[in-house]
Amino acid sequence: MSLTAQLVARIRASGPLTVADYMAEALLHPTFGYYTTRDPLGTDFTTAPEISQMFGELLGLCLAQTWLDQGRPRATLAELGPGRGTLMADLLRATHAVPGFHDAVSVHLVEASPTLRTVQADTLQGYTPTWHTSLESLPPGPLLLVANEFLDALPVRQYVRDGPAWREKLVSEAGGTLTFALGLPMAQPHLSHQEVPDGTLVEHCPALPDTVTAIAARVTQGGAALFVDYGHWRSQGDTLQALRSGRPVDPLENPGQADLTAHVDFEAIARAAPPTRVSAMVTQGLLLERLGITARAQALAHNVGDDARAALTQAHRRLTHPAQMGDLFKAMALVPPGADLPPGFDP
Ligand code: SAH
Repeated sequence: MSLTAQLVARIRASGPLTVADYMAEALLHPTFGYYTTRDPLGTDFTTAPEISQMFGELLGLCLAQTWLDQGRPRATLAELGPGRGTLMADLLRATHAVPGFHDAVSVHLVEASPTLRTVQADTLQGYTPTWHTSLESLPPGPLLLVANEFLDALPVRQYVRDGPAWREKLVSEAGGTLTFALGLPMAQPHLSHQEVPDGTLVEHCPALPDTVTAIAARVTQGGAALFVDYGHWRSQGDTLQALRSGRPVDPLENPGQADLTAHVDFEAIARAAPPTRVSAMVTQGLLLERLGITARAQALAHNVGDDARAALTQAHRRLTHPAQMGDLFKAMALVPPGADLPPGFDP
């Protein structure tokens, strides 16, 4: 039985699904889920750490500087959704140069996919990471956390403004095919800050506030959390996107076969982050330039052949240029109340 057939049977038995329920099944269903069944990186999509080692190195040194600024505490070094483990490997390699850092931290990975856990174990040979299914089981105390393209995989609900109320966009079925439908108008007090015209669609990620609050509770005791993802300040319409082999496809077609994401609402991160100090939202391009990507690219380009130098130039451009990932991707940092912001995030 395919996932479509299972979902159709479920809708017939108990009514339409929210878009969030649908996303959760398509991404993480134990048998058919997109992430549970494959390593999609490099085939369906690529990410900043897969484009260049410079990304993980610079974020690693950024976290290590925060650790130095805070007096070198013992800390949990954690990543949410580590993919192939590339970012963590680059971070750990770069921070070998920071005396005492590796002795002070223990490595923890929050990963739902058994397939990707195997890849991560391979990439991080020589380290001894602890895996977690959810961040609730991360050790208490100071936390140095990084999450790149993790929040965009958290399921979103979608609502269309209808006068003073909202109609939720739902996943229904017609003749065995999944289709979108609208629910009845209802009040949604958590959307009261969304002053948008009638007919406008807004997204809300129910898991995001709890995720950020749980991280903030630990960061309050020390450390920092760095979030990098594609998104904006406040939800900007329908951003549910399905990618298969690098191409956009219908999000309701073949659930479990395509990556499903939605843009991250950075305002929602900032709202859930107190009592931690929250940085401004900065673009990925600006952050990486402030962290010294140009100097790092030049250092790596020293003494390599023409092809390798061209690849470095291209990677630098891809990560930072406004027309590529530089502007669409944003970053935000949380630190304990009163602490200095990590380098690159200071105003
Ligand atoms: N950070 C990596 C991978 C991004 S892809 C990179 O930048 O290359 C998203 C990652 O989050 C994958 O590792 C996926 O398996 C994981 N993931 C998605 N939803 C998750 C959830 N609810 N809990 C834990 N991990 C999740």
